[in-house]
Amino acid sequence: MAFDSATPVLHSGHPARLACDAQAASMESSLRHASPQRILRAALGAFGDQIALVSSFGAESAVLLHMASEIDRDIPILFLDTGMQFAQTLDYRQELTQRLGLSDVRDLRPAFKDLAAIDPSHTLWKTDTNACCNLRKVVPLDAALDGFDAWITGRKRFQASTRAALPVVESADGKVKVNPLANWTKADLDAYVAEHDLPPHPLVASGYPSIGCWPCTKPVEKGQDERAGRWAGSEKTECGIHTPSAAELNAPQGPFEDIGQGL
Ligand code: SF4
Repeated sequence: MAFDSATPVLHSGHPARLACDAQAASMESSLRHASPQRILRAALGAFGDQIALVSSFGAESAVLLHMASEIDRDIPILFLDTGMQFAQTLDYRQELTQRLGLSDVRDLRPAFKDLAAIDPSHTLWKTDTNACCNLRKVVPLDAALDGFDAWITGRKRFQASTRAALPVVESADGKVKVNPLANWTKADLDAYVAEHDLPPHPLVASGYPSIGCWPCTKPVEKGQDERAGRWAGSEKTECGIHTPSAAELNAPQGPFEDIGQGL
């Protein structure tokens, strides 16, 4: 993850970072084949109020949010409100929050001074999507995570070839990152949604299997890669929040689906 200039950066040999690496490796070893619920319970038990869940309230977000709500409805949920979200995503955020009884959903927004200085016309996405994602996603999330030792993501291995070696627990930028759904397939997710009668994101039925900001998300045709509508027509595939680990980068590339979430 990129950091702004004000963020202190720990050297890779710093004791705190080494301790984080060791804790992540230990948890990965014991939880590698565990169920998502067991992984979540272990993470919440290990970090208490020092862990947050980051959610895009996108196409598949309801599963992890539901699991978390069954363990602790007060867990901090970090939502990147870029100012460019679909109205349907904002409505879905409200609906899921109420339905699941989540008590601490935090909307992360770019600082006004940064917006005024970097993107006063709100058109940066037209000319520099990486700078726009950095302003609206990477920097606000870095700032919000400053108060936590660990965070939870909704990433899955099946989403993309670059995520094929995604660990269940990893160390990134001096924090422990937990991916409870890493082992799950699309069928597992669909079965969980059906079992718990979870509401779908309103745009999924309109042809949006992966949902981010409105300027950078298009519907996809049947048979098309499900993430084809994200930054369509450009080389960009990720917003910059998740940087692959060495294990992920070195993993063999396979014929995986690429259906990431809004983040
Ligand atoms: S997804 Fe598009 S609109 Fe949203 S922050 Fe990134 S470049 Fe900007």
